Amino acid sequence: MTDVIVIGGGVIGLSIAWELAGHGLSVRVLEQGQFGREASWAGAGMLPPGNLANARTPEARLRGATHQLWPDWSKGLTSFTGMDNGFTRCGAIEVRFPGCSDLSDWKNGVAALKAEGVLIETEDVSEIIRRFPVLSSEVSHAYNLPDFCQVRNPRHLKALQIGCMMRGVELVAGSPVRRIETSRGRVDAVYAGGIDHRAAEFVFAGGAWSGELLGQLGIELEIEPIKGQIVLLRTTQPEFRSVIQVGREYLVPRNDGRILVGSTEERSGFDKRNTAEAIGHLIRFAERVVPNLKHAEFERCWAGLRPHSATDRPYIGRLPQLHNASIAAGHYRYGLHLSPITAVLIRQILLKQPVQLPEDCRVTPGSDPSLFW
Ligand SMILES: Cc1cc2nc3c(=O)[nH]c(=O)nc-3n(C[C@H](O)[C@H](O)[C@H](O)COP(=O)(O)OP(=O)(O)OC[C@H]3O[C@@H](n4cnc5c(N)ncnc54)[C@H](O)[C@@H]3O)c2cc1C
Repeated sequence: MTDVIVIGGGVIGLSIAWELAGHGLSVRVLEQGQFGREASWAGAGMLPPGNLANARTPEARLRGATHQLWPDWSKGLTSFTGMDNGFTRCGAIEVRFPGCSDLSDWKNGVAALKAEGVLIETEDVSEIIRRFPVLSSEVSHAYNLPDFCQVRNPRHLKALQIGCMMRGVELVAGSPVRRIETSRGRVDAVYAGGIDHRAAEFVFAGGAWSGELLGQLGIELEIEPIKGQIVLLRTTQPEFRSVIQVGREYLVPRNDGRILVGSTEERSGFDKRNTAEAIGHLIRFAERVVPNLKHAEFERCWAGLRPHSATDRPYIGRLPQLHNASIAAGHYRYGLHLSPITAVLIRQILLKQPVQLPEDCRVTPGSDPSLFW
């Protein structure tokens, strides 16, 4: 019998499969559509810095732990598969314009990063404008984060698929799990593609669809889809190399002159359509931050559904109601970034190894979290 069946083939499910197979387990991943084509493909691939040693909040601990893992995680995958996922330490600058309404959040954010020991090289706006002459001269506040990284997520997902196959993982596309069969507090099988799939352990990693899937067992997951739209611009040569963030909106430059402009946060169910209003807004935003982008070519736009959990923290751990089932879902805006630590935590839980992070870093649905660590 297969050791582990993972339901959902986004970055979370594939990373878990890659990690478990690397520790000798036999793994099958069931994906309802195509592997890595939902939120994980749509994302911008930003990987913000952290520092686990000084992290004080659950969010900072998860961010710090995954930040530590990314370089080796990426190197291991690249050397195993021969595929370059575009992981790079590109740095980022965070900027604000005069009159912005969140300056007290800004100050608290800077103080929190400093307390955490995250490197900020300069907060001098004129120095930053000197280093990034493409930036609007209207910018009134800025600091930089040299340890900010990015990954080309579509390439990373391809590499994960190839890596999984090379490690013997069975990747089954076009197989929506429609039914979960349970008895005596265990999952016996999941029904997909006309077959009952049996395994010793099951991991549910269905992203924004996780609530629907587990709802049939009466497990109430407060995970909802939050749509994010992205515009892709193309310039003939790279205008800048670092990510530019303005609060929750950003420009992510790729090294081939493409620039991702993101993103919206919209509650519109499972609707992934692009709207004129959002695309117009993102293009105006890009031009305001880097005025030269008015000459950029509009290449395309898309949208993805972020899995948002009501607690703002991902569900990572055993499902309290079922002895052989775990969940890894609800990573909202940070699922690409948190994918290595999620995979490591799930491996530690399934193999009964010491678990690296304390329980408050993630939640399990409808339960006393202390039962699961
Ligand atoms: C516009 C946008 C920008 C983003 N930018 C970033 C960023 O810069 N950095 C970052 O870290 N994160 C970013 N994110 C968030 C990140 O993309 C998500 O948190 C992450 O992709 C979630 O991964 P996942 O595997 O849980 O979900 P998904 O990628 O959605 O994968 C879930 C998979 O499960 C499958 N599935 C669901 N139900 C079933 C079923 N019943 N049977 C079989 N298969 C099923 C789905 O088809 C899907 O392929 C962004 C997201 C968006 C939309």
